[in-house]
Amino acid sequence: MARIVMKFGGTSMAGTERIRRVANIVRKQQAAGHEVAVVVSAMAGETDRLVNFCREANALYDPAEYDVVVASGEQVTSGLLALTLQSLGCKARSWLGWQLPVRTVEAHAKARIETIDSDALIASMAAGEIAVIPGFQGIGDDGRVTTLGRGGSDTSAVAVAAAIGADRCDIYTDVDGVYTTDPRIVAKARKLKAVTYEEMLELASVGAKVLQTRSVGLAMKEDVRIQVLSSFIGDDAVPADDLPGTMIVSEEEMNQLVEKGDMERQLVTGIAHDKNEAKVILTRVPDKPGAVAHIFEPLAQASINVDMIIQNVGRDKGETDVTFTVPQADLARAQALLEDKRGDIGFNRIITDSKIAKISVVGVGMKSHAGVAATMFRALSDRGINIQAISTSEIKVSVMIDEDETELAVRVLHTAYGLDVDDDAG
Ligand code: ADP
Ligand code: ASP
Ligand code: MG
Repeated sequence: MARIVMKFGGTSMAGTERIRRVANIVRKQQAAGHEVAVVVSAMAGETDRLVNFCREANALYDPAEYDVVVASGEQVTSGLLALTLQSLGCKARSWLGWQLPVRTVEAHAKARIETIDSDALIASMAAGEIAVIPGFQGIGDDGRVTTLGRGGSDTSAVAVAAAIGADRCDIYTDVDGVYTTDPRIVAKARKLKAVTYEEMLELASVGAKVLQTRSVGLAMKEDVRIQVLSSFIGDDAVPADDLPGTMIVSEEEMNQLVEKGDMERQLVTGIAHDKNEAKVILTRVPDKPGAVAHIFEPLAQASINVDMIIQNVGRDKGETDVTFTVPQADLARAQALLEDKRGDIGFNRIITDSKIAKISVVGVGMKSHAGVAATMFRALSDRGINIQAISTSEIKVSVMIDEDETELAVRVLHTAYGLDVDDDAG
């Protein structure tokens, strides 16, 4: 017998028909002799709908009230799944964030899970009950409902798995594993049998939304075994226990898979894109010590994550332009904050552009091989794609381009690094 956390994403929970399909998968997993806890997302599109209501109500919304609104999507699906399981004759009970409780810290709308009380959960599972937990939500220091940031149900699932010492955390979604790039953009994307935590962390952080970044970081820290697999399966599907999806593994496990010939080492493991950032340019900022601190301190205090930063070399007049990216969702707040600090910073104009995309190539192979960035720049330039900014880490190269060229850039790079599925044939 194993203890398993099963997480179902928005597409899997979209409507009562699909919830019934999910309930059947859960029932079978329990019938295979396991203890089961389920973490669910809101129905597909529901969180977007709720976020839009908040924006319409107040563009500079209070994150604490935003949480009250957006946490409701998962409350609905957790109740519905418990009801559906009961209709199939299973014992099932939902546990809202405040009931477990899932204690969170830090800012509303992007809270971080600190602890989950697991005693009641474990007791209920031991009594044969299926625990259904709404993902994405928790309770803050102030006793108010919090949410974990978009895609946060993955993190809820991993945190529950860590808290109850689960043997595996299965993340069920609408694709059957992690691919070399988003299979919805590149038909020739290849499914990976395994990905290392480090690479998955990097891929997620640059936009491969199949797993939320924090969920991977937490799994790495807590040693949670994650499998990504599809919930859109028939009765004859390979059981989850036989690991039909993609496993997220340690470097050590990956080396063993490579030795056995189950995995091939590639220079580039995956390509990701992110259309959710916006570019901000502050013109004519004084070119002197402290100027950039004046810009980024207020943003940091407001928990606004800044990603790519470019400061042009100041030429004459002791002035320079500073360009950076922030999440689109935070753009209005960032702009308001910067306007507020105009006196301290001393810039001339704020120019913003939401029509940008970040394309990233990721692979541990880069640590020991040069030329990955050069291949990227050449492949993009051959297709006339202009690069507006570049950033790199040990295992990643990212470029900022025009949003309209996203799909083309991803396809071109996928081919340039020899990742197309055809390249493997023969
Ligand atoms: P869920 O609602 O189940 O959480 P998400 O939409 O958050 O699902 O994540 C699944 C989606 O992630 C897929 O439909 C796919 O389009 C996208 N995706 C992006 N990059 C990848 C990748 N490298 N491998 C698999 N899926 C990816
Ligand atoms: N429903 C939330 C979202 O759409 C959380 C999740 O699905 O992971 O972001
Ligand atoms: Mg998701």
